[in-house]
Amino acid sequence: MQFLEALRLRSKLFFLFLLISFGLVVVGVMGAFNIEAMKKNIDSVYFGSLVPVTELNEILQTYHNGLANSIYASRESQMSPSELSSKIQNSIFKINNLWDSYEHHFKRDDEQQYVEYTGHEIEVVNDYFRRLSTAAMNGSDMSRVSLNTLEHKITHVHNVIQKLISYEVKIAQYERRKFLDTYNMSMAQLGFILFSILIGVMLISYYVFRSIQKDQSRLEITTSRLKKANKKLENASYTDSLTSLNNRRYFNIVYDRELKRAKREKSYITFMMLDIDFFKQYNDTYGHIEGDFALKSVAKVLTDTLKRPTDFVFRLGGEEFGVLLTHTDESSSAKLARDICTAVKAREIKHENSKVCEYVTISIGVVCCIADEALNEEILISRSDEMLYEAKKNGRDGYVITSNISECQTQATEEATA
Ligand code: GH3
Ligand code: MG
Ligand code: MG
Repeated sequence: MQFLEALRLRSKLFFLFLLISFGLVVVGVMGAFNIEAMKKNIDSVYFGSLVPVTELNEILQTYHNGLANSIYASRESQMSPSELSSKIQNSIFKINNLWDSYEHHFKRDDEQQYVEYTGHEIEVVNDYFRRLSTAAMNGSDMSRVSLNTLEHKITHVHNVIQKLISYEVKIAQYERRKFLDTYNMSMAQLGFILFSILIGVMLISYYVFRSIQKDQSRLEITTSRLKKANKKLENASYTDSLTSLNNRRYFNIVYDRELKRAKREKSYITFMMLDIDFFKQYNDTYGHIEGDFALKSVAKVLTDTLKRPTDFVFRLGGEEFGVLLTHTDESSSAKLARDICTAVKAREIKHENSKVCEYVTISIGVVCCIADEALNEEILISRSDEMLYEAKKNGRDGYVITSNISECQTQATEEATA
């Protein structure tokens, strides 16, 4: 069954179809042969044996009624010589016809000899009656016909034909038995073939079904593995490998989505641009490995501070981070920015070459506004960048927030932590 498993589903079904068709053709051909054989048997029983018996019985009747009784009637003057003569001629004619018909039926080799003997005896007895007919026509006295001879002839021909009838009846019984045997055999053969086909189809169906099931479960396993791999890949493609924060690529998607949602809902949207202060000096002082560690610490502060499902934190590149908040008003946004700055400093990551503090600090530019249709996609980012610049200018380690999102720069609301 290995080759079956190797077949594809469509080929398997086609194979099954071929098998069933082949089985049906075999049953059809066998059935046709058997029915033909049965037909021959029926012919043989009814036309090969029963009809001959009827013909032989009719010959006997003609000898008794048509010939012997006519002679008796003539002896008792109940029939004229001419009537007797024509009666004899007609009866012999009828007997000859019946005999001819009988002889034309199929004869078995073993009965051929006796059939010829019977034909000969019939001819002899018919001659006897022909002579009586001629005598009657010539005016002979029919009362002088020997009854002994007449009865002897009739009894003889009766016995000869009767023996043939017994033989034909036996043949009929034999043919019937043979027919029944053949019929039973055919039915058994047909039953066996149908049963075998049924078992074959069941077996093949079982294997095909199992094979399909195997394919199915293999497919399901592969699909789920593929899904997991895809999910991993997707996560990897949206995740920053150093900090495990969402990366810039994911930011583009989320930013676009959340901005549209806020526009629809006409709700608050806040974007923060974060940048570590004097990070170049940090790297120069402590090396890149320590620098990476500091980046991870800042990322941790961000994820610890922003826990709502609607808060999104991103590493936008280098030592720059982005925070996107929804449904957060200006004062809450400002508080969060302040909390972030405080928390980063509270980490107490040593930065002896920083010009603002002995620890690592960050500056944040914040834009917070109620989104409407007029809100430009770029403006939040460019305005937060400007606010970050303001925060740096203001001495770093703090944030600057604005709710003004017009293109031309306006006075920003500023607040800086010490
Ligand atoms: P400012 O206070 O004005 O922001 O000054 P800064 O030194 O922080 O800014 P600047 O843009 O000059 O330097 C950023 C530095 O961040 C330079 C680069 O070496 C460092 N940096 C960027 N990405 C990584 C990183 O993945 N790992 C490490 N260790 N350092 C990084
Ligand atoms: Mg920078
Ligand atoms: Mg910096």
